[in-house]
Amino acid sequence: MKIRWLLLSLTILSALSLFAQQTPQSMADAELPSLLGIYKDIHTHPELSGYEERTAALIAQELRAAGCQVTEHLGKYENSKLKGYGVVGVMKNGDGPTVLVRTDMDALPVEEETGLPYASKAVTKNDEGKDVHVMHACGHDAHMAAFIGTARALAKLKDQWHGTILFVAQPAEETGNGARALLKDGLYEKFGKPNFALGFHDKADLETGRIGVTEGYTYANVDSVDITVRGVGGHGAYPYKTKDPIVLAAEIINTLQTIASRQNNPLDPIVITVGSIHGGTKHNIIPNEVKMQVTVRTYKPDVRERVLADIDRIAKGCAAAAGVPPQLAPIVNVSKDLFCPATYNNPELTKRLVAIWRNSLGNENVEIVAPTMGGEDFSEYSLPDHSIPAVDFHIGAVEPAKIAEYKQAGKELPTLHSSQFAPVPEPTIRVGIIGMTSAVLDLMK
Ligand SMILES: [Zn+2]
Ligand SMILES: [Zn+2]
Repeated sequence: MKIRWLLLSLTILSALSLFAQQTPQSMADAELPSLLGIYKDIHTHPELSGYEERTAALIAQELRAAGCQVTEHLGKYENSKLKGYGVVGVMKNGDGPTVLVRTDMDALPVEEETGLPYASKAVTKNDEGKDVHVMHACGHDAHMAAFIGTARALAKLKDQWHGTILFVAQPAEETGNGARALLKDGLYEKFGKPNFALGFHDKADLETGRIGVTEGYTYANVDSVDITVRGVGGHGAYPYKTKDPIVLAAEIINTLQTIASRQNNPLDPIVITVGSIHGGTKHNIIPNEVKMQVTVRTYKPDVRERVLADIDRIAKGCAAAAGVPPQLAPIVNVSKDLFCPATYNNPELTKRLVAIWRNSLGNENVEIVAPTMGGEDFSEYSLPDHSIPAVDFHIGAVEPAKIAEYKQAGKELPTLHSSQFAPVPEPTIRVGIIGMTSAVLDLMK
């Protein structure tokens, strides 16, 4: 009799302790060892934007294992050669709101120099058929591990939420067209328009253990501009018999910098960066053309329109001043496909989540951070009218000691996209899971 009573109490006790464990924090801790394995696997097998075949299959398998109804091969690009590798996992749990949880999946053409034992050695062909190294230099691998951890946690916490969760694994974030490709393929028509959309991104200058967030606009409009500077080629020894597009391209680059310094209200942030310039084949040949690629960052729609017009006018004006005939004026093309609108964090939702995170991570571990001129196509999920409240938050990815050391030495930490950027996996993934899971639980309680 006594033994039976003892056994019964033990059963109740263990059931109670199990119940006590059901928090995002304990879920994250329990899943971390397995997620770390997944993280390293994804890290050593990075794939470029639009080519996320292996990664998408892995995510689909994990979402299925977590109990989601999974749809693969989602996404319609302008470029019909690109396949859509989007994955959506639907987790249903009775009536309630629909919440979209997003991760990105793509990596970058960067040769990894972190020296980590699991560093990427991957090489692949880019769109031009050239061999390029590939690296998860933006930490999307950490996002995916945290995303899978969140799906696993929410599957086990079904007694604490009601409604439908759309787990969206998005391709092609780096090229700014993946979210649009999913929406164009009927993401909201097929799976329902969500009541809220949530995303996260690791931050290369925020301490691990912390969440950072901006209320309102947080990432800028991104435009990609291609400029073909045309001239009349010839012998390098007789430049007067040519119209040299190289000297003209140099002139255009310098004049473009006067848009920010002389034509723009300094209280309206803008950035114009010429990131690529190619022209010519040999010392003594003046080529016929030079190609340049420019990234343009703005916030306000009217500033964006004006800056793009400025770039067009300056390119053509410099060519006219150099005596290039009108029929050879520079061709300035603003890519519609690569446009990425500014990301707007719904202020009311941001305030609500900040309160949740202060509770789940501690007051000191939630930071209001300044907006940046970076871009994020997470913006697309809130729709152009921001009718879907959305928040994209930052996860700290760097050891506090390292941040302090660099600060003291007056050195800059490796930024996102750097060949040396290496987030500390465990705490980054852990906070990703806790931040996302606690946010979803609150929105669906
Ligand atoms: Zn990136
Ligand atoms: Zn990124």
